Amino acid sequence: MKKRIAILGSTGSIGTQALEVIQQHEELFSVEVLSAQKNADLLIKQALNFKPDTVIIGNKNLYSKVHDALNPLDIKVFAGEESLAQVAEMGNSDLVLNALVGFAALKPTLNAIESGKTLAMANKETFAVAGELVIKKAKQKNATILPVDSEHSAIFQCLAGEHGNPIEKIYLTASGGPFRELSASQVETVTKEDALKHPNWNMGNKITVDSASLMNKGLEVIEAKWLFDLKPEQIDVVVHPQSIIHSMVEFEDGSIKAQMGLPDMKGPIQYALTYPKREKSNFKKFSFDDFSNLTFSKPRKDVFRNLELAYYALNRAGNMPCILNAANEIAVEAFLKDQIGFIQMSDIIETAMNKITFISHPSLDNLIHTDTETRAKAKDLIESLSKQ
Ligand code: NDP
Repeated sequence: MKKRIAILGSTGSIGTQALEVIQQHEELFSVEVLSAQKNADLLIKQALNFKPDTVIIGNKNLYSKVHDALNPLDIKVFAGEESLAQVAEMGNSDLVLNALVGFAALKPTLNAIESGKTLAMANKETFAVAGELVIKKAKQKNATILPVDSEHSAIFQCLAGEHGNPIEKIYLTASGGPFRELSASQVETVTKEDALKHPNWNMGNKITVDSASLMNKGLEVIEAKWLFDLKPEQIDVVVHPQSIIHSMVEFEDGSIKAQMGLPDMKGPIQYALTYPKREKSNFKKFSFDDFSNLTFSKPRKDVFRNLELAYYALNRAGNMPCILNAANEIAVEAFLKDQIGFIQMSDIIETAMNKITFISHPSLDNLIHTDTETRAKAKDLIESLSKQ
């Protein structure tokens, strides 16, 4: 029997790479669901190629276009946020790959878990918004969450066969992004074009900016806390510019296991889709001849404040990581529209974290409210900055 896959966010960087993996293993997988927010043309093209049961277009204005193109093929077409959340729990898929970006992934994640589905999780913002609720629900429903993020996939792979051996510490590796070697004053003047040139990974715009600002690593620290049940002090970040070691686990006896490979997201995507098996791949393989030096250093938290802000949010807990995430999403959006500078993103996040009401034990409704309130506050801050 083929594994039936639902891909939420199939037109994005992770989504398109997942489809490449599936195309290479047509004997193992069938595609049941595809979704996009606004890229109707690519969604239609993917649907014509993979012939899913259902497609979802987030933007309701594009419904007719997608419907008219796919109706003759008997592919069901739905539109809007609610449909995306509902499709995650539909009975006709075995695994949901959540490749959505941002807060939009929260409801589909909770619904997929509610229906006991295996969830391959690329989206990391969900863990910042509601990590505790997500993991609690997954335990209640006995749902499996497979990490897709390369660092968390690496940790997950290092833990294989280590049942009953406690983790002493994990080391999340970070490329350091394109501004790793710039001085604080140079970082102040970088542009969005500079930020979008990631040295090692080809990713969506939001995560590429997050990587440059180290917010990506901050979100990953929070994601790791929830996925592997760790205390903040058990999670360390190491800058490793070559991105060959994807992350490491240190055990109580001092032994450290690392997972290595070329930086290619198709590796962790395939591992999540085929887990627990490993299947052959045609990805380019690592060669020691090409990398005579693997180097490691500490992140520069004084220049890239977002990592400190993320650790602060994690330690403070409650709705603080949700505030961090919402303010960051708005700040990145504004940076990508040239409304604010690179450093101002951290200023906005920090101000929002100081101003939004702190809730120590938030419910899901509290978190949704925090998200809305923080977005409004961050937008106000951006507007007042643009008037200065
Ligand atoms: P992209 O921006 O490339 O793709 C996002 C996908 O989600 C697209 O299909 C997009 O549709 C859809 N989408 C965007 N906004 C919404 C919305 N509001 N509602 C519903 N669908 C929406 O993102 P990435 O693939 O880069 O990243 C996806 C997630 O995976 C992120 O959380 C990221 O941090 C994480 N991740 C990504 C990695 C990478 O290499 N890219 C590596 C590790 C983790 P449309 O195309 O129509 O806009």
